[in-house]
Amino acid sequence: MTNTAHAHDGRSPRLLIVGPQGSGKGTQAARIGEIFGIPAISTGDVFREHIKGETDLGLQVKAVIENGDLVSDELTFEVLRDRLNQGDTGHGFLLDGFPRNLAQVSLLDGFLVPRDEAIDAVIVLDVARTVSIDRLTRRAFEQGRTDDTEEVIANRLSIYERETEPILDVYRERGIVDLIDGVGSLDAVTDRIVAALEARGIARVAAA
Ligand code: AMP
Repeated sequence: MTNTAHAHDGRSPRLLIVGPQGSGKGTQAARIGEIFGIPAISTGDVFREHIKGETDLGLQVKAVIENGDLVSDELTFEVLRDRLNQGDTGHGFLLDGFPRNLAQVSLLDGFLVPRDEAIDAVIVLDVARTVSIDRLTRRAFEQGRTDDTEEVIANRLSIYERETEPILDVYRERGIVDLIDGVGSLDAVTDRIVAALEARGIARVAAA
């Protein structure tokens, strides 16, 4: 078999999940990864692990992340490329938190195109800014997340609106965007995402 299989034939779905912080995308990414049998890859999680482990990379990105700013495109892409080159991505993957801006869309295309691969669907979790702020403030309180002060939350949401939302136009032109209402129970939102992906012919793994 070649590596040209695309999701519409039911194999190797390559997916993105996009949404503002507080949209629940991390939680939904993990669920969708499991349902479709593909690894959910979060660049934010990779960075957080490095920070926790106090690696060179972790020390390098700590301040940027704590301010709610974006890590450089080059460094983030290096981290992502290393992750995508691991063996478990052969049956597809779900990227959570990448690409975050137009330059990263180009970097991802530059990685996939020579491999004759493409993103099959972009799940966009739609939640109002007030809902995001509410959820983030609660999570910061509950989990003691130092990167979630009120100022940092506002900064992250502004960056999302300014840098990340424009990438959706690129994917809309490709006809691969599924806008999902992100308000409701976790299960309800997961069901909406699964239905949208199945409507594209992307098959979930058989129930155990
Ligand atoms: P997340 O968990 O996706 O919200 O990511 C946490 C933080 O990691 C972000 O606020 C950024 O500082 C950094 N980060 C994660 N993904 C990226 C990316 N694609 N580009 C730049 N910075 C990123």
